[in-house]
Amino acid sequence: MTEGTGALVLFSGGQDSATCLAWALERFESVETVGFDYGQRHRIELECRDEFRSRIVELNRSWRARLGPDHMLDLSVLGQVSETALIRDAEIALRADGLPNTFVPGRNLLFFTLAAALASRRQLRHLVGGMCETDYSGYPDCRDDTLKSLQVTLNLGMGGRSTIHTPLMWLDKAQTWSLSKTLGGDGLVELILTSTHTCYIGVRDIWHEWGYGCGDCPACDLRKKGWEKFTLSSEL
Ligand code: ZN
Repeated sequence: MTEGTGALVLFSGGQDSATCLAWALERFESVETVGFDYGQRHRIELECRDEFRSRIVELNRSWRARLGPDHMLDLSVLGQVSETALIRDAEIALRADGLPNTFVPGRNLLFFTLAAALASRRQLRHLVGGMCETDYSGYPDCRDDTLKSLQVTLNLGMGGRSTIHTPLMWLDKAQTWSLSKTLGGDGLVELILTSTHTCYIGVRDIWHEWGYGCGDCPACDLRKKGWEKFTLSSEL
């Protein structure tokens, strides 16, 4: 891997990775994005990516200069190894072990390993992801320890000195909104509100004050509560 100063952001088109993209644009000289297409039911999230990328650079001149190309990797193979509600036409429910059935085992390990290989080729030293241990669904591959361990493994296995950054790791959803506001003011908050997608079901035609979504799935519930807490604390 390289000693360069560029970053590769794992960018899904959701609220968390969109905030991470702004965080990276504020910090690194050059920033590229990578998305993974694994046949997820909410393809709408992937479609939000292009719109968000083209609009975020309108907020800040230096961000425009820093944002580089987008990469899309085909991970349809994940559909062959997992049976989840994200991919199949099934109800979102909790499994016997307490994890939602949207869980694709070890998904983030694959994402970061592929991202690290891509970053090496693109000479980007920093990897940025929106994983979070605070308001999360219990996915073990979102944990700080998992990602710190993975960083060590990737550096050993690829002979580099890459750093995995997870700026949202210890923030709750309300604090993630606050971070957006610090990074890009009301313009960025508004852009994330209208142009990112979080809903598991992929509902894009029902508007709420916290964004588009079904309003009932666990992802919508988390986003709604975070927005309410953020706006309440902003009013104080
Ligand atoms: Zn929803």
